[in-house]
Order: sequence, then structure tokens, then C-alpha cells
Amino acid sequence: MISKRNERRLRKKQRLESWKGRQCGECTACCTVLGVTELEKPAFTPCQHCDAGCKIYPQRPKTCQTYSCSWKVGALPEEYHPLKCGVIIDTTNPLGAHTVREVYPGSSGTWRARQVIDFLSSQVVTIVVRGEQDRSILGPPAAVRQFMQQVHKRVSQD
Ligand code: SF4
Ligand code: SF4
Repeated sequence: MISKRNERRLRKKQRLESWKGRQCGECTACCTVLGVTELEKPAFTPCQHCDAGCKIYPQRPKTCQTYSCSWKVGALPEEYHPLKCGVIIDTTNPLGAHTVREVYPGSSGTWRARQVIDFLSSQVVTIVVRGEQDRSILGPPAAVRQFMQQVHKRVSQD
């Protein structure tokens, strides 16, 4: 007889397994929202190679080859697909923060985006990026303090 706890664990494992192997499909949100150094493409600017998919897919830069949002890697439920919730979430920040980027202006204020931002920022440092010059750092106060100390340390080392 399987205990309730093990049953919950099993269900969670099955759910995570079913989220693996996701494909971007028609989504090309990160081709606009993210900056691509190799192409000198700024963030929040459509990529010149994007046309219902990547026109240079086999030769796309390393930045593109290595990027996957948290939805794609199966860390988030279906409703947090970037085109459904209006934000792209990832864990690429070198200091371990979660980053939430708007897919279109104001999209981080929609209820579904707010829901995930509120959840993440109650647990971990969460950077909300609303444009090249507009970002907020949210999270538990002690975690944000520690994060800012690490940022300042890095900046002073550069
Ligand atoms: S935002 Fe995520 S789902 Fe959309 S194209 Fe980029 S990696 Fe794929
Ligand atoms: S090179 Fe391709 S994958 Fe990279 S941002 Fe442009 S369209 Fe997207």
C-alpha cells in the first residue's frame, strides 16, 4: 500500500516527466525579448533572423543555442507558457535569481503574470524586467540584501 506522501511524490514526478521535451512551437518570444551579443541585438528588439521561426537555425549564435526558458525546460505548468502568461521566466542569472521579462509592454501586470511573480518573489530573488531601463528586484528582504551585496562585490571587482 502506497502512503499518501509517496503518492504525492509519484504524482509530482509524473507531472514533471510529462512537462519534459516541450517544444517552442510557434513561440519566438525570446527572439525579441532577449539580447543576443553575437548579433549585437539589443533586448526588446525583434531579431532580424526571426520570421515565424529562426531563419538561420543551424548557424544560430551560441546564446540562442543555449537558451531555454523555464516553461520549455518543464519547470512551470502549461499556463505559464510565455504567450499565455505574458512573461518569459528563466534562471540564467549568474547569481541565481529568477528573471521575469515582459513579452509586451505592461504584460508583467496581467493577473497571471502577477500570480507567478508573487509566488516566485515570496520564495527567491526575482528580477522583473520591463524594458532595457526598467527593472525591479523583488524577494524576501534578507535574500535581496544578500543578492545586492553580491552584485556590488562583482561590480567592484570589474
Ligand atoms: S520564450 Fe521559451 S518557449 Fe518561447 S521561444 Fe523562447 S525558449 Fe521557446
Ligand atoms: S538568431 Fe534565431 S534563435 Fe537567435 S534570436 Fe535570432 S531568430 Fe532567434
